[in-house]
Amino acid sequence: MYKSAANISKTLGDFKLKGKMFRYSSFVPRLYNYCKSLGLQAGKIMPSRAFCSDESQGYPIILICKHFGTFPFNHGLVGGVVATDRHGPHAEHGKDIVIIQASHVGYDPDTSQFGVYRRLCTEHSDISSSCGKVDAVLSWYQAEYQFAQDNILIDHRDGDCFIVIDNQLLNQKRDDGLFLNLDELIEASDSQFISEESHSTSKYFRASAKIKSLYQDSVSKAPIGKNLLPEFFYYKKDIAVDVEGHSRLEHNIFDVMPWIVSSEAPLLDAAKVNTQVEFDRTFRTIVKEKGYQGKNIVYISGLNIDISPQENQLFPLTKFIPWAAFIKNENGSQKIIEQDELYSILQGQSEENSDQIDMEEAIEVMEKVKEIKIF
Ligand SMILES: [Zn+2]
Repeated sequence: MYKSAANISKTLGDFKLKGKMFRYSSFVPRLYNYCKSLGLQAGKIMPSRAFCSDESQGYPIILICKHFGTFPFNHGLVGGVVATDRHGPHAEHGKDIVIIQASHVGYDPDTSQFGVYRRLCTEHSDISSSCGKVDAVLSWYQAEYQFAQDNILIDHRDGDCFIVIDNQLLNQKRDDGLFLNLDELIEASDSQFISEESHSTSKYFRASAKIKSLYQDSVSKAPIGKNLLPEFFYYKKDIAVDVEGHSRLEHNIFDVMPWIVSSEAPLLDAAKVNTQVEFDRTFRTIVKEKGYQGKNIVYISGLNIDISPQENQLFPLTKFIPWAAFIKNENGSQKIIEQDELYSILQGQSEENSDQIDMEEAIEVMEKVKEIKIF
């Protein structure tokens, strides 16, 4: 999907958050009204959700149930990956079809920090990482990045700038780990990567013009730290090949990992990329799915931002940021809608939904109806 560093940066930047957010309580009725405007029939729509298993995703699911009038089919795997092998059964359960896919990230309004979420049911209402699955995938890459940040040094001396690189990072025979784009870091005349000096565990090279440009003031053997930019390195890792198993999310974000680990909000950027890759991948599987032929389909992808609940709140104040949609009419016409247009379309819909159900009343009816004895 990604061809170059410039493309990767651009792709991440193209997923806009500012000015593109809906409260979930506003997003779901707008989506429902949009579906009806496309010809999907009230009472005959089977919605599905491809969300992470995290309990924070419960509030959006309840709202989908309330506005679409039926509990949504479970189309999701941990981390917000679409279980495309469930397309067939999903297709059989409704005349018209809606699929909502979203990766998610927590947000703490007290610190304005992404990637964390307050778990009110823990003993001390602790804050923990969110999405936890994304955090678990990132931890190995972040540790490798931290090692490189600490063990590549910049040293100005005798009027020149040197880069001192730990021998482990120079070892190209490793099977996995963080690998350096040495031609970005070392002066062109040293492109054979012959060091100026060898020390016991590291080597000195003349720094590239790009490295020199990052330093206004001279430093003496200072770790490169945050100046280890994403274009300076890449990863190698043997990730299990499974289409939609344990490693799907890791595959989805692998190429972009240097940008994610060096980001100020790694879990947010990882969730954005996962949504982008999942939309691209899943749209292709929907087109091919026999069960979806001849049906009205609305497939929408986006990002769920779970704003941590306060002590007196039962649910998070989740926001939805649409990324893209795929619309297919029962007569076969189809189109993809990109973020700006999709946001405008949803914004143009009413958030009033006269078809929404009263869930308390629906539950009360089921409690009072005459019991059916099975045995
Ligand atoms: Zn999660």
